Amino acid sequence: MPELIITKNLDVPGIDKLDVYRQHGGYEALAKALRNYQPDELVDAIKTSGLRGRGGAGFPTGMKWSFLAKNDRPRYLCCNCDESEPGTCKDRVIMEQIPHRLVEGVIITSYACKVHTAFIYVRGELVKAGRQVEKAVEEAYAAGLLGKNILGSDFSLDVIVHRGAGAYICGEESALMESLEGRRGYPRLKPPFPAVVGLYGGPTVINNCETLATVPAIIENGADYYASFGTEKSKGTRIFCLSGQVKKPGNYELPLGIPLSTLIYDEKYGGGILDDRELKAIIPGGSSTFILSPDKVDTPLDYESIAAAGSMLGSGGVIVISDATCIVGAILRMTEFYRDESCGKCTPCREGTFWLTEILERLEHGHGEMRDVDLLLDICDNLAGKSFCPLGDAATSSITSGIRQFRAEFEYHVTHGCCMTGPGSKKSHT
Ligand code: NAD
Ligand code: SF4
Repeated sequence: MPELIITKNLDVPGIDKLDVYRQHGGYEALAKALRNYQPDELVDAIKTSGLRGRGGAGFPTGMKWSFLAKNDRPRYLCCNCDESEPGTCKDRVIMEQIPHRLVEGVIITSYACKVHTAFIYVRGELVKAGRQVEKAVEEAYAAGLLGKNILGSDFSLDVIVHRGAGAYICGEESALMESLEGRRGYPRLKPPFPAVVGLYGGPTVINNCETLATVPAIIENGADYYASFGTEKSKGTRIFCLSGQVKKPGNYELPLGIPLSTLIYDEKYGGGILDDRELKAIIPGGSSTFILSPDKVDTPLDYESIAAAGSMLGSGGVIVISDATCIVGAILRMTEFYRDESCGKCTPCREGTFWLTEILERLEHGHGEMRDVDLLLDICDNLAGKSFCPLGDAATSSITSGIRQFRAEFEYHVTHGCCMTGPGSKKSHT
């Protein structure tokens, strides 16, 4: 097992409590940051570490911090814990099991970015996670780790935990800010990016939960230590959420650049395909990313290699699909999700996700026509790049990549009225 960074000590009993977290070195990185670093030096350290956003886009974290506009308005930090991407369940584990690592990351980041008010936006359905983060924040206030003059320094910070109300779109950073400001979670036009005009009009840094929970380890061990893991452009480790038809689904922290096949087949991780079936497809970074064919199974799990293979590393949610699964049914299920979660602000996505679902439904249930397959692609063409926010693009990823690789399965649904899921496992929908 490679060295753990984000999930280190995760299994220590009581690590969610402040005293146990501190017994295991917790908040020493914060003390070191306040004692040894000026804010700008911390930004430089994070740049050197090569840390990139773990929410999905992989934007360089230190660079994002350095983009904060220098003006008189108050600055804010929003920690995006609205984890909702299908196939992704890593932030939840951090919040539930080791919430102080997140709180410590929030405090160090706020110091680095000269922020005095931070928000932790927790997905509403993650009830336990929200409670754990609230408790950690309370404990931190009581111990002088939050509030005025943290650890006797000149730095003061207030942290507010906010629970979402169950909308996927509120994980999009500008919709998250709308929601925090008390409005309906509609995305805002970008630019301006939040770093320039963000929450309440102030420069705002928005980072994912895992990204911020990684910050203490970088300060504790040094940027070069963190950068020694991973590849040249994708440094460090990240939590991969392995789900679907594997023997041992779960969260595995691994250095970036490890081959997909290791994650899926190694006994220490996925342990192989469920029921020893054949691998049919892989979704490497949550449902918003393009489907990869089995010949890409040795692709290294880093941003560049997965992009070169034709997809995105996204949120680290690796979904494994075996030959027991009908690809049309799987894509329908994902498209229903985007239809339900479309906020309705723009026409291509609001109408497009509805029609994509309708057509996929009739194909899946054996009532489709041959021209429906190209009709799906045509609608995708009117969504991708023409919607107001990334949700519209995301809704098309599985459809376009699925039809490109499994067109015969879509057509089989038309000609046979049932799934072509491999010998002995046909499922009729007529
Ligand atoms: P993005 O590429 O638009 O932005 C990435 C980040 O960089 C943002 O914070 C943005 O403000 C910042 N940024 C980009 N250019 C900038 C500039 N010039 N100046 C200042 N800041 C700049 O991507 P996004 O919309 O934030 O994220 C999309 C990704 O989110 C998708 O790839 C998907 O994988 C992922 N996603 C994750 C979840 C989840 O639950 N974790 C849910 C949905 C989607
Ligand atoms: Fe809303 Fe979809 Fe348009 Fe995004 S793309 S603004 S989710 S309707």
